[in-house]
Amino acid sequence: MTSEPTTTDVIARLTELARNHRWTWHRPAAELLDRIPGASPDRHPAATIAALDADARQTIVADADLTAAIDENFDDLQATLNTKSGPPTVAYVSAEFGLTELVPQYSGGLGILAGDHLKAASDLGLPLVAVGLFYHGGFFRQGLDGSNQTERYERYEPHNLGLVDTNQTVTVAVGAEDVTAKIWRLAVGTIDLYLLDTDIPGNSPDGRTITDRLYSGDQEHRIRQELILGIGGLRALRAVGIDPDVVHLNEGHAGFWLLEQLATKMTSGASFEEAIEATKAGAVFTTHTPVPAGIDRFKQPVITPYLTPWATENDVPLTTLFDLATSADDTGTPKPFNMAAFCLALSGSANGVSKLHGRISRELFAAVPGGDAITSVTNGIHARTWLDPQLADVFDTHLGAGWDVGDEQAWKLAAELEHDTIVGTRQQGRRQLIELIEERGAAKSGALSPDALTVGFARRFATYKRADLLLLLRTRLETLLADDDRPIQFVFAGKAHPADGDGKALMAAVVDFAHSSEANGRFVFIPDYDMAVARAMYAGCDVWLNNPIRPREASGTSGEKSALNGGLQCSILDGWWDEMYDGDNGWAIPGSELADAAKRDLAEATATHDLLENEILPLFYGEGAEPSPTDRWTQKVRHNWTTLGPQVTAARMVADYRDRVYEPALERARRHH
Ligand SMILES: *Cc1c(COP(=O)(O)O)cnc(C)c1O
Repeated sequence: MTSEPTTTDVIARLTELARNHRWTWHRPAAELLDRIPGASPDRHPAATIAALDADARQTIVADADLTAAIDENFDDLQATLNTKSGPPTVAYVSAEFGLTELVPQYSGGLGILAGDHLKAASDLGLPLVAVGLFYHGGFFRQGLDGSNQTERYERYEPHNLGLVDTNQTVTVAVGAEDVTAKIWRLAVGTIDLYLLDTDIPGNSPDGRTITDRLYSGDQEHRIRQELILGIGGLRALRAVGIDPDVVHLNEGHAGFWLLEQLATKMTSGASFEEAIEATKAGAVFTTHTPVPAGIDRFKQPVITPYLTPWATENDVPLTTLFDLATSADDTGTPKPFNMAAFCLALSGSANGVSKLHGRISRELFAAVPGGDAITSVTNGIHARTWLDPQLADVFDTHLGAGWDVGDEQAWKLAAELEHDTIVGTRQQGRRQLIELIEERGAAKSGALSPDALTVGFARRFATYKRADLLLLLRTRLETLLADDDRPIQFVFAGKAHPADGDGKALMAAVVDFAHSSEANGRFVFIPDYDMAVARAMYAGCDVWLNNPIRPREASGTSGEKSALNGGLQCSILDGWWDEMYDGDNGWAIPGSELADAAKRDLAEATATHDLLENEILPLFYGEGAEPSPTDRWTQKVRHNWTTLGPQVTAARMVADYRDRVYEPALERARRHH
């Protein structure tokens, strides 16, 4: 050190480290931020730093060891930021982003996928920029009243979540009102995520509540949010000086972006038809659900007042817009405005999120122009975000560089990992999971064992995911839970959408069972599922159960996270598992061909119980006095890693998008310039 750093310098560097969410996967930065006085797993480090008083700041600056670590991390971050290759050419737009539980701007799989996409794009050095909304209330926090879900919203302040004020705003006509949105920036490694926020002075009370909460409210509220996300989103990028060539619409929520793009083209002289061609050239769309109810379909009378300002200003008849946004299977008169159909009509390419989902989407959208050309890019997960740190250390030591980006040679070395190393880290994972469960009061102390076969199930309580499948054979389940020779324990978690009565009933049934004496304390439900609960479950569960009604699980990603952590899949052949199961790297629950839903469920419940009793438990516990888990179990875990490691990472996914989706779109867009 040649010059004395000032307190302001040191705190500014620390603040930048906290505001760049690279710490969510870069362990040296996370460990450094943990050393700040007052650091807590429940508080964003930016908030911890903001709360430091003068004395605490002085203490930090006086700690030579700490300031050296700050400098080292800061320089490392700058070096990473300096690898940026130029202005972003691809804009990634999504209604939700899940980067860490400390920035609660996600509801589930879609948002976490979006967060993982940004992290992998940063790792790969992609020229990508992202756009979303900032929700002051986030998504609801789940509690329990008896066995029923309760919902509560907190209020989050952007400064306390590491967001940076760009001092820029955009204004969008939302029905009869002009609504202004403030633009925040959130750094994710080399990727900037811009978030729009209408809760600012100057907007009407109605305008201010547009970005209040994620997935709450009625259709009209959704339309208002999506106008800000789509039209406001593109304007926001231009306001901060970015004009991407390609837009990636992560699900139909972002579709109004295309309206703004059409308007731009027409303003610069293109006819409506030319504007459509130019917009298509630079737009790519990812559909995420094969379930028609999962698609935004806005009723004509509800959406008309919101499309009218655009139609009037651009002199395009409303009927033309509605014609672009209907699918043959839409019912009702007049037909609704179908966001997925609209995105398909105006995107140059579209994809589903697994091979099977691609096929299903081609059928689902067969009647929409472009529907038969839907391809697929299978979802992946960001390895360093989701890997248990102990296991990441093992991989760093034994697999060498590249395992985290899916390098096949690196993953081959997983075949050599020692039995004891695998068993030791997995047992540590179970211990930590049990600790979290007990801390949250979800199990009686001592009821769960760190040595027992642990089965996990965590996902939204959407009815098609059938969280209650095992419970259909209740006696068999109770017998399993009473077995002290070969103990098995189940850990469940998940939220039901506040408006989904059936989902809530399903959840209550599962919680009821967990609380029953027959569950023997070995079937637990952890409330308030979030990324922290999820991480603990992946590290602590030996088997990951997934039993949706095929083919409704477009991809699923929780299983990929479990697999990378050494959990073995026990899953219906749906989504990602349908293409990655090789007969030996986990278990496939045999699907039933029965047309009757109740009979099919019973058949698949029986098949799942059979697998547990006849294959999974015997493999884990072995014969007689054999130590458990057996060598044969760890052999299967190794095989799980060598076969799945190269396939399930978000690095593989984002590289696929780069090569198969973005590059062709960039070329199309440039030809259209
Ligand atoms: C991975 C993840 C999901 C998505 O899991 P699916 O298997 O796709 O249902 C949802 N919520 C959290 C917190 C996750 O970590």
